[in-house]
Formats: sequence, structure tokens, C-alpha cells
Amino acid sequence: MNNCPHCNANLIGEEIPKEQQRFFGTAHWHREIGIEYPEKYDGVWEYQCPDCGGTWPSEVAKLRGNYEKK
Ligand SMILES: [Zn+2]
Repeated sequence: MNNCPHCNANLIGEEIPKEQQRFFGTAHWHREIGIEYPEKYDGVWEYQCPDCGGTWPSEVAKLRGNYEKK
């Protein structure tokens, strides 16, 4: 996700230091905030926009098909 689905803010952030890009598999940080719900899933369940506070489900949450809007 490169833009917020709610306010369309650009979510591409700072460039990752060259020596770390291989580790992260991408060249830029993303600005969205990963939110975890340990009772549901051991990992990021949804993302939150740092600008408007809107949330959207992670790929895992979409695959599970039981995403509930908070
Ligand atoms: Zn937003």
C-alpha cells in the first residue's frame, strides 16, 4: 500500500540505509503503523495512517476474511 485508502496520503517514507535494504527487501520505510491484535494473530493485523488515523486490514486479515472494523 503506497497511499492511504482514506485520505490518499503518500505512505512512502525515508529511504532505508543501503546496507539494510537487502534485509528489509525494500528501499523505503513506510509511514503506516502496524497494529497487532495478539488474541487474533501473531503479527500485524491492520495498518493505521499516521495522517488521518484511518485503518485498513493487513493482507493476512484480508485472507482470513473475518476482519472486523474497529
Ligand atoms: Zn490517511
